[in-house]
Amino acid sequence: MGLCDLTTIREILGRHGFHFSKSLGQNFLTAQWVPDRIAAECGADISNAVLEIGPGMGCLTLELAKRAGKVVAVELDRALLPVMAETLTGIENVEVVQGDILKMDISALCAEKLDGMPVHACANLPYYITSPVISALIDSKLFESITVMVQKEVAVRICAAPGTPNYSSFSVYVQYYTEPEILFDVPRGCFVPQPKVDSAVLRLKPRETPAVHPKNEALFFAIVRAAFNQRRKTLANAAYPAFQGKLDKAEILGLIRTVGLDERIRGERLTLEAFAMLSDAAWELLAQKD
Ligand code: SAM
Repeated sequence: MGLCDLTTIREILGRHGFHFSKSLGQNFLTAQWVPDRIAAECGADISNAVLEIGPGMGCLTLELAKRAGKVVAVELDRALLPVMAETLTGIENVEVVQGDILKMDISALCAEKLDGMPVHACANLPYYITSPVISALIDSKLFESITVMVQKEVAVRICAAPGTPNYSSFSVYVQYYTEPEILFDVPRGCFVPQPKVDSAVLRLKPRETPAVHPKNEALFFAIVRAAFNQRRKTLANAAYPAFQGKLDKAEILGLIRTVGLDERIRGERLTLEAFAMLSDAAWELLAQKD
């Protein structure tokens, strides 16, 4: 029986006196097709490595280990170490590292453990840290691909198009650095304990260079954040805080007109290209004022 079989899960965890922690986002997979398919789609092969986050009992770890040259699996919960010592016995190419992925230096970890091998990231992510983990993986600029299971609504938000209700500053950030794609949905019934929401597996393919090339990245993201912070306001009003008082409302309206946008447009309608054009126009105006 595989590690997704409910009777097997209960037997092993019971023997180790393990209790699921809601606060650690512990929902373990009970449908073998899910880790099989994630491992098949994540790009792992003998020539590369995988960094897995949150191996739990190791059901995905085992499937990754069948394909990858090496798997480094970071697990926060110490209570799962003796469980994995049993479930991963004899699997030579897996190394479990205990720790909090958000407190780790991911580059140093990969440099230490993977000896320069190309590396993919793969995880059934704990729900409570989805966005910070995705950001840390993207910001590390280390990964060939990032394949993660997340709440379905988070996956939809990340892939959302301009002008749709789910489009957010996080969509812009992820789409700026990667090409996101929803691979498949995973219903809530595929986990123990059963979560209240469905999940989806998302693949992020890091771009060689960002999707757009603003002259000043910090200003670009400041405008994006401001636009979505007050998404019901017009862009002219919402963007004001991004310029820290250096541009007045009339100047911001002028910029919006200059880049060919409607004065009354809301930020949530802007494509990445439009945000970059606005940011560049603002950058030039600010430079003239200095
Ligand atoms: N991979 C297993 C599966 O698919 O059945 C378990 C996935 S479960 C959704 C998330 C796992 O992440 C749990 O094992 C949990 O203990 C672990 N975890 C939670 N927070 C973590 C953190 N900050 N760093 C590393 N692992 C964490």
